[in-house]
Amino acid sequence: MQKKSLIPRLIVHGGAWNIPAAYHAAHLAGVRAAVEQTYPQLLDGCSALDAVETAVKVLEADPTFDAGRGAFLNAIGEVELDAIIMDGRTLGFGAVAALQNILHPVSVARQVMEQTEHNLLVGTGALDFARRAGFTELPPEDLLTERELAFFRQVQNDPAFRTHHPFRDGPGDTVGAVALDRDGNLAVATSTGGTARKLPGRVGDCPIVGAGAYADNERGAVSATGWGESIMKVLLSKTVCDAFAAEDAMAAAQQGIDILARKVKGLGGVIGINAEGEYAWAHNTPYMAMAYAEGEGAVNASIRPDAK
Ligand code: ASP
Repeated sequence: MQKKSLIPRLIVHGGAWNIPAAYHAAHLAGVRAAVEQTYPQLLDGCSALDAVETAVKVLEADPTFDAGRGAFLNAIGEVELDAIIMDGRTLGFGAVAALQNILHPVSVARQVMEQTEHNLLVGTGALDFARRAGFTELPPEDLLTERELAFFRQVQNDPAFRTHHPFRDGPGDTVGAVALDRDGNLAVATSTGGTARKLPGRVGDCPIVGAGAYADNERGAVSATGWGESIMKVLLSKTVCDAFAAEDAMAAAQQGIDILARKVKGLGGVIGINAEGEYAWAHNTPYMAMAYAEGEGAVNASIRPDAK
């Protein structure tokens, strides 16, 4: 792979949905912190793969977001986490789904990629693997927040509630990161607690390669967020990566979101970096929390990046 850029790039998101005003400050601070803590490492020469894992870990540890600590509860009041990490050099990826009691599913996903001959581990198999790989298993309450418990109680017995409603009407803040390193390599990671009141065992777009994330040095890398059942149908991240070949970066992101809306009435957002190192983003939800590194370090964070 030819070196394409000596200036590394990093862009992260903290979910695309109707983020209530009361949560804006925490979302902005969270995505900004992920870039501020990670970008200096990219400047120092760390790999894109290390950078996306680091940035997503910052976001998983932040209870503001629907990933790691702070995740939505499923229909029986439990946290089940999905995550993926992908290496644009090799198209290698690792993913976990319906994983319980682990704070950093993205790191387990990386171990799946690097230590096994598989791509995706689910449920108790993923948890067993995490234990064997030395991850600390936390008591379930450790990943649970008062905010999510209260929301669970509010929607638990509401017959009108649908798991995709938060993307339009109320509280989905999956997290994701895309990086380009000094060697011109791209990587992506996405991590989520999924959707509120999902059925136990439900797996969303996040750990499905091409849906929640895709990275290919020849095209670009993309992380998606939003209503997973719709995102999966159009393999949103791969769709945007493919569009990078013919469109400029922002137009490719918008094309992906237009396809999501037109073909499957989907709701969500994407962030990405094309092979030339140009940032891309688009969303059709009211808000999307995101931040990226400008030039050699300034951080641009926003909650409504498409606002004109
Ligand atoms: N895409 C995630 C899912 O459906 C949710 C989100 O992005 O907030 O599992």
